[in-house]
Amino acid sequence: MLRKRVQMRMLVALLVVMTFVSAPLPALAQKTSPVAPSKAQVEAVVREAYEKFKSDTNGKNADYIPYLAQVDSKLFGIAIVTTDNQVLSMGDIDYSFSIQSISKVFSQALAMEEHGPQKVFEKVGSEPTGRAFNSVFAVADMPTHTGNAYVNAGAIATVSLISGATADQKWNKILDFYSRAAGEKLKLIDEVYKSEAATNTGNKALSMLLAKYDRIYADPFESVDVYTKQCSVGVNVAQLARMGATLANNGKNPATGEQVIKSQNIPHILSTMIMAGLYDGSGGWAWHVGLPAKSGVGGGIVAVVPGKGAIAVFAPPLDEAGNSVKAQKVIEYVANRLDFNLFSPRSVGLKGE
Ligand code: GLU
Repeated sequence: MLRKRVQMRMLVALLVVMTFVSAPLPALAQKTSPVAPSKAQVEAVVREAYEKFKSDTNGKNADYIPYLAQVDSKLFGIAIVTTDNQVLSMGDIDYSFSIQSISKVFSQALAMEEHGPQKVFEKVGSEPTGRAFNSVFAVADMPTHTGNAYVNAGAIATVSLISGATADQKWNKILDFYSRAAGEKLKLIDEVYKSEAATNTGNKALSMLLAKYDRIYADPFESVDVYTKQCSVGVNVAQLARMGATLANNGKNPATGEQVIKSQNIPHILSTMIMAGLYDGSGGWAWHVGLPAKSGVGGGIVAVVPGKGAIAVFAPPLDEAGNSVKAQKVIEYVANRLDFNLFSPRSVGLKGE
């Protein structure tokens, strides 16, 4: 009797092993992209990138916001979230860093949810400025003055479009929207907010200049304050990658299944990311990597691979333009190795020479 039972168990175990061996390698994000790489491929490439760049010490923490200057510049984390909610992460994955400029993507999305894309295009626009993200000259020179939603002036104008009877209502609406995109409740990092609020005279100046041109749509200083709060929201790499995966998944959060952003707004967001996501390094980024992405001076970058997923990297030291050095290198490496570049026909499975 006992022998029979043991034999039976061995047979079942054998069948399980056979099924496993004969099953095709499961692709990541297969539900949405038939050419998504397999999980094993992604894991191997991300590990290679992590090892290759972990000792890179190039760049320097942002220091115009005092809090950012004292963040440990060795922190380094990578996360990928796919459109079918598989998560791969490596390194300092629990550290909450300030989202900074990456928030601008999601406030632009919220403004479009409220007003539709045409109004946001008219009131803010989507033209690269060719200048630094906090440039006063761009506001004076550009025909639209606002430029796009990812330079500080355009981002403050975008916040001023968000409706709410009080500044608190607007802020809570923004925080709730980001949390829905992340699939988890996000929080303000109060020390970052205080540090930035005490030193943001440049952003206040931008808001007054926008007022001169009639390109801000609520009280200028109140809008700067809400904007400063949105930049001080804390995220870890997996939360940031999931926010990106929500964009990659046509606006539907892959973890919660909630349609956070209308699918018809996604191309407007991704096109702005391509043109202005890495400040005045955006042209070089499109040339080398070919993915919509957004960086923040906190050291995070998220890149979106439509239909497949998103990769988020956090490493504080920045280059001259204000983009994380390591994050750029990791994403470029992974995107090239896995044929993610959207301008390459290889990204849709056409293999060339
Ligand atoms: N809060 C930062 C600022 O207003 C955001 C800049 C960024 O990440 O590019 O300067």
